[in-house]
Amino acid sequence: MSISGSKDHAARVAALREKFTKTFGHHPEGIWRAPGRVNLIGEHTDYNMGYVLPFAIDKNALVAIRRKSQLEPESQSLDFASTYGGGETLAVTSITVDELVPRAVPGWAAYPAAVVWALNQVQGVELSGFELLVDSDVPVGSGLSSSHAMEVGTIVALNDLYALGLSHTQMALLTQRAENEFVGAPTGIMDQSASLMSQAQHALFLDCRSMDAQNVPLPLAQEDAVILVMDTRVEHSHVDGGYAARRRSCEQACEVLGVDALRDVARVDDLVAIDDPVIRRRAKHIVTENQRVLDTVKVLNEADLAAVGQLLYQSHVSMRDDYEISSEELDAAVEAAMGAGAIGARMTGGGFGGSAIALIKRDQVQSVSQAVLTAFEQAGYVQPNIFTVVADEGAGRA
Ligand code: ADP
Ligand code: MG
Repeated sequence: MSISGSKDHAARVAALREKFTKTFGHHPEGIWRAPGRVNLIGEHTDYNMGYVLPFAIDKNALVAIRRKSQLEPESQSLDFASTYGGGETLAVTSITVDELVPRAVPGWAAYPAAVVWALNQVQGVELSGFELLVDSDVPVGSGLSSSHAMEVGTIVALNDLYALGLSHTQMALLTQRAENEFVGAPTGIMDQSASLMSQAQHALFLDCRSMDAQNVPLPLAQEDAVILVMDTRVEHSHVDGGYAARRRSCEQACEVLGVDALRDVARVDDLVAIDDPVIRRRAKHIVTENQRVLDTVKVLNEADLAAVGQLLYQSHVSMRDDYEISSEELDAAVEAAMGAGAIGARMTGGGFGGSAIALIKRDQVQSVSQAVLTAFEQAGYVQPNIFTVVADEGAGRA
């Protein structure tokens, strides 16, 4: 079932409409929805031009917008507000269109501002002022891509309102440019593609070089299985160094091997030319992870969840030992879930904190969750946030 038709969704949309009117003194022209995502498998492969297999989740950002007319005062001003952390009256951040300078907008407003900036780089597009209010239930900094949910919600809204006629691929590339150049986070193409292109009950098999996308059925319901998210509540940040350092290692590996991208390396044996053992291990993760994505698509098509589970766990081991982007908490979540009988488990997202996922039978939700809670308590970690997710449809009108 998709959440878009649910009662909760309708209530959130109505509440957002009301809050918008209270905050800005006008009704919004419309409300759009963009989901967060879980990456089933294919981590850090996107910027290596490889394969990824994420799916949109039933947690999303709702974005309400009203364009200003040229006759209004402050017609060039972008007024952004979010319900995140807000009380009854919301703080509004205002920026004029001329003030949209890369890396110059502080705080969360940089994300919607970045989208406007990226759109205004497109030939023939010249956006002026509008009011925007976000309400998101995607946990922030948990590796479920709350930032892209907000950016994608903004770009689909503006694409509709200004009748820009942009394709999903164009919007994915523009939000990537927004986040890379304007916000300053060197992230890849996966998260926004998942938010834009996913279908309910499917994962998105994306070739990050060609941008060819295929929706692969997730045979979870018929196998009585679910995906459990274990949010360690240790925040990661892509603006920090670890993510950028991994990208650099991959570029160094490419230089030694004389390839454009690690996607072009088919076999681990080809990596012997790399002398530096750390760079070689980083490259090994990418080469093996690309193959695991292809293998996962194959076994999903055969509805072989046991084989999917093995690939998920192998992916975790590769991220833990070769790419070294896991954390104590993520390892603990994965091991506790596996110990309690999960079919497979792995950290998901950029790493250095954030969330892990487990593929489990529906009747294991309680026991696996409890095992993870107990492991965290015994280790003295912050209590994790544990919930199941459903593969939902990509962004659109709310
Ligand atoms: P992730 O995308 O994995 O959740 P990021 O560090 O990439 O983590 O993005 C988190 C940032 O996105 C937050 O620090 C905040 O600036 C912004 N953000 C996300 N959701 C909201 C929201 N509902 N309201 C305001 N800002 C948000
Ligand atoms: Mg993000």
